[in-house]
Amino acid sequence: MTNKRLPKAVAELLASRQPQLWLNPEWRPLHQCSEETGLGLSDIHNAEYRWQQFATLLRILFPELERCNGIIESELRPADRLRQALMAQQARAGRWLLKCDHELPVAGSIKARGAVYEVLLHAENLAIAAGLLRPEDDRRLLSEPPARCLFSRHQVAVGSTGNLGLGVGAIAAALGFRATVHMSAEAKEWKKARLRARGVEVIEHEGDFGSAVAAGRAQSSKDPLSYFVDDEQSRHLFLGYSVAALRVRQQIENMGLRVDATHPLFVYIPCGVGGAPSGISFGLRHMFGDNVHCFFAEPVSSPCMLTRLAALDNNPIAVGEIGLDNKTDADGLAVGQASEFAALTIRNQVSGVFTGRDAWFFSDVFRLAEAESVQIEPSAAAGFRGPTWILDTDAGREYLTTHGIEPYVASATHILWTTGGVFVPQEEHQRFQERGRAEWQAEASVPSR
Ligand SMILES: *Cc1c(COP(=O)(O)O)cnc(C)c1O
Repeated sequence: MTNKRLPKAVAELLASRQPQLWLNPEWRPLHQCSEETGLGLSDIHNAEYRWQQFATLLRILFPELERCNGIIESELRPADRLRQALMAQQARAGRWLLKCDHELPVAGSIKARGAVYEVLLHAENLAIAAGLLRPEDDRRLLSEPPARCLFSRHQVAVGSTGNLGLGVGAIAAALGFRATVHMSAEAKEWKKARLRARGVEVIEHEGDFGSAVAAGRAQSSKDPLSYFVDDEQSRHLFLGYSVAALRVRQQIENMGLRVDATHPLFVYIPCGVGGAPSGISFGLRHMFGDNVHCFFAEPVSSPCMLTRLAALDNNPIAVGEIGLDNKTDADGLAVGQASEFAALTIRNQVSGVFTGRDAWFFSDVFRLAEAESVQIEPSAAAGFRGPTWILDTDAGREYLTTHGIEPYVASATHILWTTGGVFVPQEEHQRFQERGRAEWQAEASVPSR
């Protein structure tokens, strides 16, 4: 089955579930990027300012944030042993770093950036409207009895494949809101149990992410005291994510690394509905201009952002239209239709999207644990074949040539963004490792791409 809405070759590869690296023909130098959604650098700085204002409050709500002064951030760490394990040609491999969002507190995934930010903004708005907070006040007031009493009459709702629910549920419950999470079919039992243990209402849906979001949105809209965190169109989530770029720039500087025309930076981020990778890439392009090359990673059965960005007409499109079933063990990425907001904002900024098989994700989860003693969930490993795609394939070489950076690959930095895992129960990690070892052995015996 081919689809008239996509270029033939792309559609055929997508439909065949063959992994591919798709290069974005709409990529533009930063100064030519269209401002279709009206967001810019000042919005990122404003979001960082708001996060700083919330720091005193976050330290009270989550004691684990005491030692980081209420700032939710993850480490950027060298991954030399992983590089040795994953890449044969070491001379061209450059420097590899792990951006450890799998360790983010509160949500245990990259979702901490968006979810916590959006719910805090909502709480602040309610408190200001009720006369309980003035803009100049310390945000700690939001944890005091009058604010808690106000929040207890309000609901925060969200639709999720699991991790966004964990994030929204955690912050909403901590502030004293009634919280409701609409979970799609792939959501893991332990994620639902964790939320219920915190008093969050979990509603299970038979359908996929899109239908859980639709159900949640519809239910929430009937209740004037309910606020819906809408992962398909939220600019608050997007800006919460974007702040990561400011932090990464600082971390790179602290490590004494350079990013410039002869030291390109490649970043590989797993993509579900697109909010997280788009928000972060948007931020990174504003930090590093055309010297950063952002690639998204998707499962072969759920390549919703690739499909949306490759579409010949500028309209929403779901992977079902090309005959794909959106079934993947990478539950964080099981999304059939991309966020329009994310797609429009990132359309000129993202370098490309590559796809991978579930088997690869498990194999790479296993190899990361072996090489670096770091445990992540399968979704979080989707970007690990990024450097191989760039350095060892025709499409990758085409990208390097077009951008004039082929001579500089040895001095490049590659950031693999690990997006979730720290809350995964140990038995579950054990299963990931067992399957990962088997997939890795199978792959080693039959070299394949
Ligand atoms: C949600 C998620 C992503 C992708 O974020 P989107 O905003 O859905 O694109 C990646 N990895 C993990 C583990 C996630 O939970």
